[in-house]
Amino acid sequence: MKILVQKFGGTSVSSEEKREKAAMRVIEAVKNGYSVVVVVSAMGREKDPYATDTLINMAKSVYKDISKRDLDLIMNCGEIISSVLFAATLSSKGYKATALTGGQAGIITDDNFGNAEVINVDPSRILDILKDGVIPVVAGFQGITQKGELTTLGRGGSDTTAALLGVALKAEAVEIYTDVDGIMTADPRIVSAAHVIDRISYNEVFQFAEQGAKVVHPRAVEIAMRGNIPLIIKNTMSDGGGTIITNYSDAYASIYEINKLVTGIANMNNRVQIVIEDKGNVEDIFAKIGEEGISIDLINIFPDKQVFTISDSDFEKLRNLFERLGVKYSYRSNCAKVSIIGNRIRGVPGVMARVIKALSSRGIEIYQTADSHNTISCLVSQDKVEDAIRVLHEEFGL
Ligand code: ADP
Ligand code: MG
Repeated sequence: MKILVQKFGGTSVSSEEKREKAAMRVIEAVKNGYSVVVVVSAMGREKDPYATDTLINMAKSVYKDISKRDLDLIMNCGEIISSVLFAATLSSKGYKATALTGGQAGIITDDNFGNAEVINVDPSRILDILKDGVIPVVAGFQGITQKGELTTLGRGGSDTTAALLGVALKAEAVEIYTDVDGIMTADPRIVSAAHVIDRISYNEVFQFAEQGAKVVHPRAVEIAMRGNIPLIIKNTMSDGGGTIITNYSDAYASIYEINKLVTGIANMNNRVQIVIEDKGNVEDIFAKIGEEGISIDLINIFPDKQVFTISDSDFEKLRNLFERLGVKYSYRSNCAKVSIIGNRIRGVPGVMARVIKALSSRGIEIYQTADSHNTISCLVSQDKVEDAIRVLHEEFGL
């Protein structure tokens, strides 16, 4: 049995017309001899009637302290509705299909409601369904505890479901269908010259997602990488090869790609730079920030100060914490981080110098930098970030 997992995101299943298009992708694969497992997200995005954010707001508008357990119950509804409608769409075209909850599909989690961790995937029921020639349509983003409580997997959870099932079923590939033609060299809304990257390594996509370009969730990339299952990003509404995500050597099999230093550019908006001017117990301060659930980034530690950035949505929390602890600090708001990503950045001298020169040529001030094996990030003013992306896109010949 040649198994293919196909995941359809919220915008791909938001209307009957779109579900028809999506169903055609499934039928095409079936005709090509694949046993297809479908994973769906809830229909649409915020404000659409059955989108996850809508369901959360509905519950919270009645009682804002609703329990995480109950919230997970209502959040399970979006994907369940979507899976039933998708299975019905396939059936209406003469293809036998059946909808499954995450639990019914064998996704077993711990009881960390709202962001549950998957502890086991039992693919036996899906395999039985496939053997009967029926297409299982799995509600993404959800699981069940060993005690039978319904849970959700956190943001990007449907991508996670698809990757987990791909690995557990030893699928040939996991296809992630969305509303763009693949992973692009930069956000196409900012850079008109951005184009689809044909092949890319897991590691680079992971970096893309970490640096703000969340076309596929990093957790899903990690799962696929560990299971060595190719992930393919495609557009539901248009044809084209999309982006194939595999390991480094496969991704860079061609000489052309090897010559390219930078694969793409990502950005993360609404950052606040924090400077702690305090010789106090640094470890303790960072531990407390962690306990508050504030994630920090671009961390530079100096003997007399610590510099890092946070999302501006966490700023209020940090201010309160620092007030309580009596930490002296200054800050710079309205920042954005721009990052160049490429596996080959590592070990090539002068890349940082090129980044700095390109940004300076447009009068873009750099507030902070960071580099790792395969990324170089710069913090710039929010109103300069689009210009920064464009100039770097050009500088590195994308
Ligand atoms: P879905 O609902 O299908 O899961 P997502 O919103 O999670 O869709 O992911 C697709 C979106 O990712 C696109 O609509 C696009 O705006 C965004 N995106 C951000 N950076 C990139 C990039 N470099 N290439 C392609 N898409 C990107
Ligand atoms: Mg998504």
